[in-house]
Amino acid sequence: MKADRIEDRIASVLYSEEAIQCRVGELAAEIAADYTEHGRAEDPEGRPVLFVGILRGALVFMSDLARRFPMPVEYDLISISSYGNGTAPGAVRLVKDLEKPIGGRDVLIVEDIIDTGFTIEYLKRSFAARNAASVRVCSLVDKIVRREKPVEIDYIGFTLREDAFVVGYGMDYAELYRNLPFIGVLKPDFIR
Ligand code: IMP
Repeated sequence: MKADRIEDRIASVLYSEEAIQCRVGELAAEIAADYTEHGRAEDPEGRPVLFVGILRGALVFMSDLARRFPMPVEYDLISISSYGNGTAPGAVRLVKDLEKPIGGRDVLIVEDIIDTGFTIEYLKRSFAARNAASVRVCSLVDKIVRREKPVEIDYIGFTLREDAFVVGYGMDYAELYRNLPFIGVLKPDFIR
């Protein structure tokens, strides 16, 4: 039987496993230093920073980031769908909400890639309305070329200047390729 190796479906690697792991470590240290130096909200219950990962793409990044984060941390997951059938472009729908209220919490939204900006813009508004003490955003990749909503991103792993659809390290094409340890571009044969 012919082996079906997913790596053989990749045309080029944009960010190698080593480059990603190195950058994730730098981000974890930078974020922890910021929460230390610029203080955190005075939380009467002493709750730690809360990472909120956006399903399903941010799962791999958040698990590495949390393991490199040198401070206590809690995490939760949220699921958003965009461009639903028949809805206007940019329409964002909440599919799975957070488990607990975030009032008074320091929240770090963890995202795999920011494209148009609609998802992050929606979440920042939603979390501010829930009275989070602070809401910051960390995205591994910032795909700047197709931005429609100007959003402030506090921490960026890599800035992608080409209009490329990328897969790997949590990011999918038709639900595949999330398990690649690097980020790359698919060969055209594998794009339907
Ligand atoms: P935005 O609301 O357009 O910023 O949507 C961001 C979401 O679109 C990300 O969380 C991804 O799920 C998805 N996305 C955007 N660009 C890519 C890509 O190049 N590869 C994989 N997923 C992408």
